[in-house]
Amino acid sequence: LKFSEEQEKRKKLYNQLQEAKGNVRVFCRCRPFNKEEASSGYVTVVDFTAAKDGDLGILTGGSTKRTFKFDRVYTPKDNQVEVFEDASPVVISVLDGYNVCIFAYGQTGTGKTFTMVGTEQNRGVNYRTLEQLFTTAEERKETFAYSVSVSVLEVYNEQIRDLLATSPTSKRLQIRQASEGVHHVPGIVEAKVENIKEVWDVLQAGSSARAVGSNNVNEHSSRSHCMLCILVRAKNLINGECTKSKLWLVDLAGSERLSKTEVRGERLKEAQNINKSLAALGDVISALAIKSSHIPYRNSKLTHLLQDSLGGESKTLMFVQISPSEQDLGETLSSLNFATRVRKVELGPAKKQI
Ligand code: ADP
Repeated sequence: LKFSEEQEKRKKLYNQLQEAKGNVRVFCRCRPFNKEEASSGYVTVVDFTAAKDGDLGILTGGSTKRTFKFDRVYTPKDNQVEVFEDASPVVISVLDGYNVCIFAYGQTGTGKTFTMVGTEQNRGVNYRTLEQLFTTAEERKETFAYSVSVSVLEVYNEQIRDLLATSPTSKRLQIRQASEGVHHVPGIVEAKVENIKEVWDVLQAGSSARAVGSNNVNEHSSRSHCMLCILVRAKNLINGECTKSKLWLVDLAGSERLSKTEVRGERLKEAQNINKSLAALGDVISALAIKSSHIPYRNSKLTHLLQDSLGGESKTLMFVQISPSEQDLGETLSSLNFATRVRKVELGPAKKQI
């Protein structure tokens, strides 16, 4: 009974989100002013008057306002719990056999990592996702047997780094080499996790490996894509059906353009690779939107990895992160335009992965 009640509740929540048909959701989240901006008297360009309806106003100068429509709009006052509540139906669908991709897009410093990773006191989507998966798996244990494993990757300059393979602390984890093809990367490490404490250890191992070899961890993080992959194997104990599904949680590299003074050397190469992969993500999404027969997944490592979690049978949730400040207006508009393009994609109907 508990399972069917829970399923009903979830269906209701999911339907609420499903204003339009399809499996792509875009949530917009604006960070608060930081201390520096507040003290230098920057003015906000964001109008949240109709945020409850998913409308976001951007003051583009003078009395001009542009309005963008999203599935959710979060003001700087909305907290991690509220944000996750809206994301959780999409997360739970991985236990029903769907592939899912949740990613955070935006300029550096707009809260991508805050939304996905969060802080110890204010944990983000990554941790809450795994917590939710274990809670729901426990509630369903009479009907389904689940096994969950996690991989942590970083894509930097079009190269994939397996963070669990290189982490100094990963020796303590229960790990195994995945069979070829699971994530389109042969030999990738999967850490089996059985409870939320083990999840914490895996996430820590991943982030400690991220710091290795870079002089400035923050800069490195803003120029690489951090990708968590949760692989769920499910067995229906009643009919014996087995499914395998995947959930990607991606903190993308900063989407900002380079300033003219920075266009040199290593930084130029990094920026070109970031542009290439974010553009490839946009191109994949556009190709899906027009139902093109060729979807260019292979144009970047990012889209290649996400291949079976971005497309007709999977569910996508994008967080577009923005700054409230007038000084970031150009980047804010460019992020919102990208997000609008993503939102126009109508995928569906979703089918289970067997
Ligand atoms: P990004 O990953 O996009 O570069 P960060 O997540 O590092 O950005 O956020 C930049 C700063 O703003 C961090 O200090 C972060 O804690 C803070 N911040 C971002 N979003 C929020 C929010 N919604 N509430 C409180 N602080 C936030």
